[in-house]
Amino acid sequence: MNFLLYENMDFLEINADLHIHSKYARGVSNKMEIPVLAKQAKLKGVQLLGTGDCLHNKWLSHLKENLKGEGIYGYNGCETKFVLQTEVQTFDRVHHVILLPSFSKADELREKLLKYSNNLDADGRPHLSIGGEEISEFVFECEGLFGPAHAFTPYFGVYAHYNSLKECYGKYSNKISFLELGLSADSHLADKISELHRLTFLSNSDAHSPYPLRLAREFNRMKIKEFTFEELKKVMLQKDLRKVILNCGFYPEHGKYHLSRCKNCLMFYKLEDAKKLNWKCGNCGGTINKGVKDRILELSDCDGNPERPKYIHIYPLTEIIATAYNIKTLYSESVSEIWEKFIKQFGNEIRVLIDVEIEKLEKIDKKVAEYIDAFRQDKIRQIPGGGGIYGKLLPLGKKPKIEFFKYRQKSLSEY
Ligand SMILES: [Zn+2]
Ligand SMILES: [Zn+2]
Repeated sequence: MNFLLYENMDFLEINADLHIHSKYARGVSNKMEIPVLAKQAKLKGVQLLGTGDCLHNKWLSHLKENLKGEGIYGYNGCETKFVLQTEVQTFDRVHHVILLPSFSKADELREKLLKYSNNLDADGRPHLSIGGEEISEFVFECEGLFGPAHAFTPYFGVYAHYNSLKECYGKYSNKISFLELGLSADSHLADKISELHRLTFLSNSDAHSPYPLRLAREFNRMKIKEFTFEELKKVMLQKDLRKVILNCGFYPEHGKYHLSRCKNCLMFYKLEDAKKLNWKCGNCGGTINKGVKDRILELSDCDGNPERPKYIHIYPLTEIIATAYNIKTLYSESVSEIWEKFIKQFGNEIRVLIDVEIEKLEKIDKKVAEYIDAFRQDKIRQIPGGGGIYGKLLPLGKKPKIEFFKYRQKSLSEY
């Protein structure tokens, strides 16, 4: 089966996930190694995968041992190709994604950064003592690509700490070509900020385990001519018809910081009410965590961007199967049996989620096909996430019932 989705005028359409972590990053599965990744990426349907953690000495050696090529690397004749990628944290706790064109540039960047970290190898995602302007300068000197990671998440997103890209990246803000949306935002939300309209939006998984449940749970479909770093650069710069043509990922409501919510008693808040209460819970006195949606509303200066590629909200097939059959554990045998049937028939998961006609999916499993159809038509609803708790998918036809804190103006006598 040919994995390329479309070949016309020599263009290839590929699925890419450009942000993952290695087994050397905190909280990551020790199965995160290239041979496992290559196998699982094929089952998922990913043709281009970020390596994660490419500045970490042990992981860099593992990559050099396993990957062959130049710019975009192959492993042992496998379908999935790799690009050198890492995530770093700057002094202000902001996370950034870096893509590099070669092992020699990775060595070069490592060398430059050694003096800005107590220990560059303490974690796959190194902590640096410099800020956004300095790190972007170093990456551009190494001919890499650079942009904010999960830009809107509280704690580690650029917009959690700054009101504009310029505030964080200074004179290099105009050279940044992409922004990673993260699990709590989609193009529709992010395009409410007009300074982002020129950027390529990436929907990546930030996966901590190599299996199709996590790998490419968000992914990008892009148009390139061949597997080279130059082509990837053109995609990010939207040059010569190379570009991202589709973003796929979670409903933003699923993210654990989507709505503003008390971290203690989990009460939901509307932005105006949380502000009036100075972000202290009116129910229990706890801290209200500002949700991604409200943060974007605060920064919003326009309605949207009609030029943006389509965004399809979709979940991993395992999760869809479990929801369709109301099975509580994702790792149950009955879930994997159905998953395997689909993969055996259609080759990979992304094809099942996005490309294969519903009538064909119905022949494998009617119920699951009905859910996939509902995702494709954007008919899925859920209980939104917030306060550090993920959102929850609802069965078809169900609407979420959530209550927001009711703010009452206190009468004078109460003071
Ligand atoms: Zn991060
Ligand atoms: Zn509370």
